[in-house]
Amino acid sequence: MQTGQWLDPRDGTRWFFDSGSLALDFGWTGAFGGSQTTERMHGPADLHAWLDERFEQLEPVADPRNLQDALLLREAIVRIAAAVADGAAIAAEDIDAVNLYAATPDVPPSLDGGRRQAGRSVIRIGQALSTIARDAVALFAEHAGDGRIHRCSADDCALLFYDDSRSANRRWCSMQRCGNRAKVRAHRARARA
Ligand SMILES: [Zn+2]
Repeated sequence: MQTGQWLDPRDGTRWFFDSGSLALDFGWTGAFGGSQTTERMHGPADLHAWLDERFEQLEPVADPRNLQDALLLREAIVRIAAAVADGAAIAAEDIDAVNLYAATPDVPPSLDGGRRQAGRSVIRIGQALSTIARDAVALFAEHAGDGRIHRCSADDCALLFYDDSRSANRRWCSMQRCGNRAKVRAHRARARA
């Protein structure tokens, strides 16, 4: 599954942010990133639309209970990611929340090209949330201690991401955004000197 999404920060300029993982992308649908991100999940329809872009044939439509579950899972993911990035202790309640959603049935894998849609007719919201929770389990289990989950190097940027680059040298949430701003600042500093 491709990761990344367009964000609508409070300053109004849309930009594409790839957090490097499905679980962190889901985390960044909330207003956790200072001015960098805004809340996108205002109602069940917003949740449905976000999941529908990533999982085919999502039925039935998301309801308020689904949204409540999604927000609980999302906040647990964000808090764990922040603790990992900042070297803080991870709260056991957050681990429990992620494990709870990961324990329910997820979206089963399937091969294309069969004659019927065996077992893959529709995907329920709960299955999609479980797939996100399992992605979080895999991400944190494998990378909590290796420094690949970290914050953008820009001083005024709170966004964190999973660096899946081979050389583990990703510094910016986005080159177009924080990377270029840092380059411009460095250039100006050199020009003044
Ligand atoms: Zn940044």
